[in-house]
Amino acid sequence: MFDVCIVGAGVVGALCARELSAYKLNVCVVDRANDVCTGASRANSAIVHAGFDAKPGTFKARFNVRGSEMMEQVCRDLGVKYVRNGSLVLGYTDEDKATLSDLYERGVKNGVRDLALLDRDGVVALEPHVTEEVTCALYAPTGAIVSPFGLCDAGLGHAMDNGAEFIRNFEVDRIEREDDAYVLYAGEQSVRAKYVVNCAGLYSDKIAAMVGDDSFTVHPRRGEYMVLDKAFTPSLTNFTLFSTPTPKGKGILVTATTGGNVMLGPTAEELTDKEDLDTTAAGTASIRAQSARYVQNIPFNAVITSFTGLRAVGSTGDFIIHASAPGFITFGGIESPGLTSAPALAEYCAELLAAEGLALEKKEDWSPVRTKGAIKFNKLTDEQKNEIIKENPAYGNMVCRCEGVSEGEIVAAIRTNPGARDVDGVKRRTRSGMGRCQGGFCSSIIVEILSREMGIPYEQVTKSGGASIINYGRTKGGEHND
Ligand SMILES: Cc1cc2nc3c(=O)[nH]c(=O)nc-3n(C[C@H](O)[C@H](O)[C@H](O)COP(=O)(O)OP(=O)(O)OC[C@H]3O[C@@H](n4cnc5c(N)ncnc54)[C@H](O)[C@@H]3O)c2cc1C
Repeated sequence: MFDVCIVGAGVVGALCARELSAYKLNVCVVDRANDVCTGASRANSAIVHAGFDAKPGTFKARFNVRGSEMMEQVCRDLGVKYVRNGSLVLGYTDEDKATLSDLYERGVKNGVRDLALLDRDGVVALEPHVTEEVTCALYAPTGAIVSPFGLCDAGLGHAMDNGAEFIRNFEVDRIEREDDAYVLYAGEQSVRAKYVVNCAGLYSDKIAAMVGDDSFTVHPRRGEYMVLDKAFTPSLTNFTLFSTPTPKGKGILVTATTGGNVMLGPTAEELTDKEDLDTTAAGTASIRAQSARYVQNIPFNAVITSFTGLRAVGSTGDFIIHASAPGFITFGGIESPGLTSAPALAEYCAELLAAEGLALEKKEDWSPVRTKGAIKFNKLTDEQKNEIIKENPAYGNMVCRCEGVSEGEIVAAIRTNPGARDVDGVKRRTRSGMGRCQGGFCSSIIVEILSREMGIPYEQVTKSGGASIINYGRTKGGEHND
């Protein structure tokens, strides 16, 4: 019997698990997928929003500002990439200027520090590549970017280092109350827990309904992106560039990423199908047209990939956070700024569980600093790298040439909590396959390493779990043909 079962290993579930792992509790995280970070947390803009956007008094405003304040330290403790690059909301007209003033006031009310309204000269001094059309901007120096993959992986990994259990491929389809516990079923499998935290993203409404809470619904809003080859965009922008929101929407952004690429997007399209991750020709056209108004000379011929993320849009317009049943906490409709808010939501999760009667007794030996993460090989000096290669030659065997990822790092990604189990899992942890060739050269080697490390046949290694088979059989001779 677990004290707490968390449903969903996105950024909210992962950081809730980490928070709870500081206490003398038996915690598990279940996810329907084969890995951590496969939902909205995998496909978003990766912005740590400063907090000027959310309406004062809402959960979104409260947790955005607190999360943004916490994020840098959390990332330092977990060894996750975080860059305080600052954001600029660009304006083009007098109407935009007035809207930016309102945003400034809203930000001040929300407690965002150091906001500034800039005229064209002020904008150009910071970001010389903006187009001639730009006349003004709202500058938020506290805006930042983060690696969402790193945050999920290290957050859950840290929880597991401290005793939490991660159960993959466990799709909760029924929940029953038995005595003083909840029993969560995934087909024939079950998990029993005294308390439940529902962090199921797009499906948080479905999970809440399993214990009788049908007070809200969640629908998907598609956001498409294009990613530019970093070789062609070293000086396109270091900032996160938004455009002034209009009644038609917030528009897309042009942003630096912690991986060194520039990303364009996301679009916003209401959907009903919670599994529709298609990219579309209309989405691509819209991104191209909009982003061309932000910065000059975007090299659209340097797009190396495109992808879609689905926002979990709740029916109330705000984050939906409440007890769905006794001892059953729901985090529903956690759309943007959910990534930014996640550390603060995790803090609140512990408070809510305590209010529901869970005894929280701190572990004496818990440290916020993760010491069992994989080595950040790329951050080392050549001397340090050479020392490691002498001890473990796998670190000298380059597998992903585009991103410079060695076999040693891939093995570490598989062996370090919560262990990659498929090609996409290795990619999110190491960036292998995220470069110009998009895995063309390294994928087959990564399949071999996964097969060897997991002790399974080559043909059983998947792209992202389930039926995502990569190799159906052997066609030629060679070492795999025995
Ligand atoms: C296009 C886009 C752009 C965004 N940009 C930003 C941004 O720049 N900054 C920001 O702060 N926020 C941003 N967000 C929002 C942010 O990504 C989300 O708020 C955050 O990732 C939500 O995390 P989560 O853990 O609640 O959900 P998810 O990451 O979706 O995780 C939910 C998990 O629940 C699992 N699950 C679902 N059903 C079941 C079940 N029945 N049984 C077991 N497991 C289940 C899923 O497999 C999934 O892993 C953006 C979102 C999108 C889509």
